[in-house]
Amino acid sequence: MRTESVLIYKAIPGHDQVAGHIRRMTAGHGGEVWLIDGRTRTAIYDTGMSYCAPAMIENLQRDLRGRPLDAVLLSHTHYDHVGGLPYLLKTWPELEVYGSFYGQAILEKASALAAIRKMSDNAAQTYLGPDTPPLNYSDSEMTVNRPVREGDLIAVGDLNVRVYETKGHTNCSLSYYIVEDDLLLTSESTGYLTGDDYMRAPFLSGYHDAVASIEKSRRLAPGLIIPPHRRQGAIVGAEAYWDCALQAAEEQKDFVLAALRQGLDDEEILHRSELRFWTGEKQADQPIEAFKVNMRAKIGLIRREFYHKGDNFDG
Ligand SMILES: [Zn+2]
Repeated sequence: MRTESVLIYKAIPGHDQVAGHIRRMTAGHGGEVWLIDGRTRTAIYDTGMSYCAPAMIENLQRDLRGRPLDAVLLSHTHYDHVGGLPYLLKTWPELEVYGSFYGQAILEKASALAAIRKMSDNAAQTYLGPDTPPLNYSDSEMTVNRPVREGDLIAVGDLNVRVYETKGHTNCSLSYYIVEDDLLLTSESTGYLTGDDYMRAPFLSGYHDAVASIEKSRRLAPGLIIPPHRRQGAIVGAEAYWDCALQAAEEQKDFVLAALRQGLDDEEILHRSELRFWTGEKQADQPIEAFKVNMRAKIGLIRREFYHKGDNFDG
């Protein structure tokens, strides 16, 4: 993983399996889907985008060989992480869907459901072709039916999963710690890695919240982590991961704050951010429109959390 400097980590061999019982079920672009096989019970971490949900469910059915999927653990309620939910509930109506209380409330809002559908349809047209018809799923199945909070323990057969609230990317973000594996499935609040292992700092709801979540995860000191959006197995060397996440967040915060103190307006800061941060591998991974939407949110956040009119240049 890299921000400005390259830090050392080791990937576990075997891209699609971690510790044998955690297996990758991802079937397309968007959030990753990991099966947590506790032998007598099964769960997945996140559900990916809607357009590839049928293929993701095929991956699950092939792996489970007639066993049911029992639970879903949601990291947060963005469309590329919850898109598969209605399709999963159609296939397994008894499914327990875990997420935060805040996330449950979001998925009860008509405006949030409309936004998820719009972005899911856009993604379907991008990846399946412009003639792809609108997605056909029921909003009533885009839902959290087992809300959880900090410290709750979820039993997945032989495995115990502890819940950690990790705000910063969204207010509904959760990380999940598998006790028996000393493994943390992190939320996007503590950074994410793209295909080339470039660390990003997607703080959208709170910069201080994101830093607090990184420090909380560091204190937990998991031996292994599975970060969001990374297509390969778990990583070890978690200290380097938290350092890198913090560095990536600080770098963007300092850049925006310096520009605000120079008196630049949002459009100019956005332009300079694009030249500075939307480079190389990132261009392939993130559409410029998505980059701009997120960057605008970050500029607003930094202004609210750090900038006071009258600050000196050296402040
Ligand atoms: Zn997200």
